[in-house]
Amino acid sequence: MSKLKLEHSPEQKLQHPVFDQAGVEVFVKRDDLLHPDVSGNKWRKLKYNLELFYNSNYTGVLSFGGAFSNHLVATAAACAELEIPCVGIVRGLHVDLENDSLSRCRSFGMRLIPVEIKVYDQLARFSTANSEVFRNSLSDLADELPNYLAIPEGGANAFGKQGCAEIVEEFHNEYDLVMCPLGSATTFCGLLSALSEKQKGIAVAALKGVELEHFVEQKLDEFAVKPKCEWEVIQEDKFGGFAKINQELIRFKEDFETHFSIELDYIYTCKMFFHLFDMVKNGQIKRGSRVLCIHTGGLQGNSSIKKRYRLKQISVRN
Ligand SMILES: *Cc1c(COP(=O)(O)O)cnc(C)c1O
Repeated sequence: MSKLKLEHSPEQKLQHPVFDQAGVEVFVKRDDLLHPDVSGNKWRKLKYNLELFYNSNYTGVLSFGGAFSNHLVATAAACAELEIPCVGIVRGLHVDLENDSLSRCRSFGMRLIPVEIKVYDQLARFSTANSEVFRNSLSDLADELPNYLAIPEGGANAFGKQGCAEIVEEFHNEYDLVMCPLGSATTFCGLLSALSEKQKGIAVAALKGVELEHFVEQKLDEFAVKPKCEWEVIQEDKFGGFAKINQELIRFKEDFETHFSIELDYIYTCKMFFHLFDMVKNGQIKRGSRVLCIHTGGLQGNSSIKKRYRLKQISVRN
């Protein structure tokens, strides 16, 4: 994706009495600052997918996402900047196409096509738009679609993993622990592919009700990643599951943002930092450890979550 050239994201030390007391050093890698719209790990995951676009004869990009998808917004913004025609297949016929995320997609020129959930779940498995299912389901696009590159939901493929592995190459310090949020596990697999045997990877799940260890092992297999390091996945057992929030999380987010002047998203990074504080307070992180958390971005989703939960629209400025 040579035309969308970006600097390395900065690493920043987080000062907090809780960390001092535990003798733990905490840093954050600010992938949220990589690009104003191609957010965080979604940029990482798009990078080699879009390189494939340039190395082939595709005429456009097609991808998939839910009503508040960070990935669709990132794809739309990247394609706008690179002047690539793009289509977003949206999960569900009754989603609000006027919500903030999908309006943003459209403002970047993405053509949105909502489809039935059943059809969506079928289509999202394909890596090429040149199949019978696509032609039947999206008949008014039948002529264009065969030449479109289909990027899976969330950029969750081996190219996505490859882009995320590069996060580790950019590290300025030696870290004992590297933490990230976990959705499709693509980012975590990328990190695990690049961490050394002296390091440990920890992922904090954004979803619940999944056999997480097994899920990550399957993903590692799928991407043929054999981690050299130890790893662990932390369950989302406090907030009720994907995109669910409660008063405790809202309070934590406000305190965090006030203290550090770094905005978090509710769905992923807020839960990661919540669990980090939990682990540090409970003595689960060895004294003398140096921890790096990846801020994977996703801030565009905050306005929709606030509307859903009727929260005040306050934003943090750095
Ligand atoms: C998509 C997303 C994730 C999840 O990444 P996976 O690679 O799917 O595990 C984490 N954080 C943010 C902000 C995201 O948008």
